[in-house]
Amino acid sequence: MSAKPIYHCPFCAEEDLRPVEEPRGAWACGSCVRVFSVTLHRTDLAEAGPVTREEQR
Ligand SMILES: [Zn+2]
Repeated sequence: MSAKPIYHCPFCAEEDLRPVEEPRGAWACGSCVRVFSVTLHRTDLAEAGPVTREEQR
């Protein structure tokens, strides 16, 4: 599973993110200097409801 790029730091909400070599798939925030990784567990379409499903067609 490949990591999708993320656009905002989940800790400080800045956009100064860059991928790091180690650990694999992790990101470093240039603003709060945290190194973190983000895991997508699933896309829950049942929870999203019929409106969202309609838009994805
Ligand atoms: Zn940050």
